[in-house]
Amino acid sequence: MNYSRKQQLRKIIAERKRLLTENQFIDLSEKLFFHLESLPTFQKAKIILLYHSLKDEVRTHSFIEKWKEEKTILLPVVEGENLKLRIHKDSSSLRTGAYGIEEPTGKLFTEYDKIDMAIIPGISFDAHGNRLGRGKGYYDRLLPDIKAYKIGICFAFQVSEDIPTEPHDTKMDLVITENGALNEK
Ligand code: ADP
Ligand code: MG
Repeated sequence: MNYSRKQQLRKIIAERKRLLTENQFIDLSEKLFFHLESLPTFQKAKIILLYHSLKDEVRTHSFIEKWKEEKTILLPVVEGENLKLRIHKDSSSLRTGAYGIEEPTGKLFTEYDKIDMAIIPGISFDAHGNRLGRGKGYYDRLLPDIKAYKIGICFAFQVSEDIPTEPHDTKMDLVITENGALNEK
């Protein structure tokens, strides 16, 4: 029952995304990161887990470029069923990995306790911090090991009233859209 509800939500949101132009994706992403940058938690954070966006996700490329000198940016790499983390140095050292995602090539980063903030993509989030992903559970397997403050990011049209969750789903501490933060859980 949960499964089909999750699938239904993924489909609705994919349809909404198709209505957006490239410029709208970029503009909304810029607005979203403006809110994120205003958080003291972000300003203080030194080591940040981010993701290198695909075409249908909140765009992170220019945000990563902007902060990569001042902060340590970690990006996920797909290894089989799991996400591992590597430090992002510069865009020229990225290589296309599984699912067409650009991934860093440096050595693995394993000191998960040192991560200050995790910025997590999602198909949908709700105001309780629940997350809906693409359905493969990659972040569900990674996040239990990461104690850092977790921020889910998505556009406002991706927010759901109530996301069906299962015991393996990890909650976000905060969800941010282009309109600012949703109510903290
Ligand atoms: P998503 O989080 O990508 O939206 P789901 O929460 O529906 O996807 O999870 C997808 C699948 O991932 C689950 O049905 C489950 O088989 C698998 N999964 C999730 N968490 C774990 C885990 N901790 N260990 C093993 N498999 C997991
Ligand atoms: Mg999940």
